[in-house]
Amino acid sequence: MSSNNPITQVSSTVQRSWTAESKHKTRKNVSSACRACKARKLKCSGIPPCETCVKSKQECIIDAEGDQRRKLNLKRKVDSLENDRQFLIRLLESLRTGKEGHITELLSYIRSSSSLDAIKSFLDSHNPQTEIGPTPHLTEIFTELERLQQSRQGPPTTLAVRQFADTPLVTVPAKPWTTATSDDTFVSHLISLWLTWQYPWFNCIDPVIFINAMQSKDLQSSLCSPFLVNAMLAQASFFADNPEACAISGDVRTKGNHFYTEAKRLLDDEEGRISIPSIQGLGIMFECACAMGKDRAGWVYAIQAVEGMRTIRRKQTRLMLETGLSTANLELLIHRIELSHFNIFVSGALVLQIPPQVKKPFEYCLATTCDIDKDVFVPYPRCGRRLPAHNNCILNTSAQMGEIVWDISTFIGREEGTFTQVDLVDGVQKWHARLTRCWELRSRCIDCERNPVPGIFTLYMYYHTIIITMYAFLKTIPSEADDRLLERAERAQQICLSSAHTVAQLTKAQQLHWGPDPGPLANAHFITISLYVLMEDLKTPESHQAFMSLCRAHIHYARRWPLHRGTARMVQLTAQRMKDPLPHDVVAHFREFEERYWKPDSERRFSSRYPNFAIAIRRGVDYLPDDLELDAFLEKWVNLDDETRMD
Ligand SMILES: [Zn+2]
Ligand SMILES: [Zn+2]
Ligand SMILES: [Zn+2]
Repeated sequence: MSSNNPITQVSSTVQRSWTAESKHKTRKNVSSACRACKARKLKCSGIPPCETCVKSKQECIIDAEGDQRRKLNLKRKVDSLENDRQFLIRLLESLRTGKEGHITELLSYIRSSSSLDAIKSFLDSHNPQTEIGPTPHLTEIFTELERLQQSRQGPPTTLAVRQFADTPLVTVPAKPWTTATSDDTFVSHLISLWLTWQYPWFNCIDPVIFINAMQSKDLQSSLCSPFLVNAMLAQASFFADNPEACAISGDVRTKGNHFYTEAKRLLDDEEGRISIPSIQGLGIMFECACAMGKDRAGWVYAIQAVEGMRTIRRKQTRLMLETGLSTANLELLIHRIELSHFNIFVSGALVLQIPPQVKKPFEYCLATTCDIDKDVFVPYPRCGRRLPAHNNCILNTSAQMGEIVWDISTFIGREEGTFTQVDLVDGVQKWHARLTRCWELRSRCIDCERNPVPGIFTLYMYYHTIIITMYAFLKTIPSEADDRLLERAERAQQICLSSAHTVAQLTKAQQLHWGPDPGPLANAHFITISLYVLMEDLKTPESHQAFMSLCRAHIHYARRWPLHRGTARMVQLTAQRMKDPLPHDVVAHFREFEERYWKPDSERRFSSRYPNFAIAIRRGVDYLPDDLELDAFLEKWVNLDDETRMD
């Protein structure tokens, strides 16, 4: 299974061409003169007809063998240049992200005028896995870069020196899977983006099985379907900057719509027939609809997926025949879908503060591999370090935490009045103890210092978001509070703040390692929740700083996903209602967001229960509307602003 992992394949091809490079570098050019010139021992001008043949009015023939050799030579030259280019990129990346000791050593290597090969082997011998996080010095440089970017006019840009890979991680065909585009390269680009940025937090597919099925172009396949592909392309469009990623070229408001519409139509056509790709696609449609600000539609897909999963379990024997997978591999794939769905539905329920719509799985353990050759993260489309991805390790831990989150969401999703404050305090204590135990027992590779891959950052943020959500309920001060209650509220507030500060640091580290562009979509939810906590403490310099840096990170999500334009607006409107006046840079940030990303009437596009959270954790806010719908919530507040202005 490992040997035909498409991601590994691509990377090892790059490596192979590296080592092959030195062998053909020294060869001399082989002549490819035409037959006439060769016979007369003349210098041939090359491309036929050559000057000699034109002058002597004879046919100019280049022997096929010689021509082949010439082409081969040209190809070698291109390869060699490409290798040098790759080398420079690696060198740059090492200088950018390497430890200080390593950089000093590298510089002295370069200055001692060692040969290129010597520098290359020095880079090779340096193992990126042993690298530990950014140094304080580099963090400083990054902060400075970030500051410069912010002060510049125009949309937020990425790091000034940035290198893109020119070939996608995987090569997959557009036909027969989608009719929204026929461009294979574009489809390969989108699927590569999906595998890089969304897969670490939602690994509902086995990349090897899926890519093979997609490459087969076989519509009868029971491991790939047009519905699944279009759903994936719709979600991937939000990670892409190409104008073709928008249904109306260049109109960001239509991002992914063409694929999304086709996926919806295809789902209708399936008329409830259940297959593995349809279940996988439903999970992606759930996420996609939520990110478009339509989580009501999203939960309809989620419920269909949960229902469908039961059918899959019943059909297991027949599926084995259809898919050609062994019992063990099929079981593994089904278990993977189950866990990844559980993970996104449960974390989604936590964020929206509604009861989870999914049952707990029976067990939470996929076989793991921490081997870079079997499971690798490549920061496509950037050229950068390859690291072991730890995807299954991440999924296991998030599903184990999900079991606790399931209990929390079930509890807080109950109707008000069915539990007392004492029940809640009791619950929080027990959940926190379980969460701490679960976190301590996690696989040792889940360590964001040692293995700074996006999925691990997201997992850390998830952990802290769970803590915030639990304690947010205890930090509201009841109207008739005695000292004991006040003290408890204060302690809860401190716990929330501490976790929100950590989320800000994690976000910064994620950006430092992988660029300011978004990581997995889930991060945006975790950022929003931390922003709500921090806005109550802007008087404290650390909170103020963390708030601003999270606001800036949030903009990268708002730029791409409609929902996060909505949540950024929600944060803005809530913050403006805080009792204390906002710091100047916060005001300036909100003004910029409003001018650049918020179009009048944008709120009408939402159908979301998102503000549940904002309402549930209120503290220090002088007014909150009762509506739980994002559109009404945003609209009402805007109107309220107009009324106050008229007074
Ligand atoms: Zn000639
Ligand atoms: Zn000639
Ligand atoms: Zn691992």
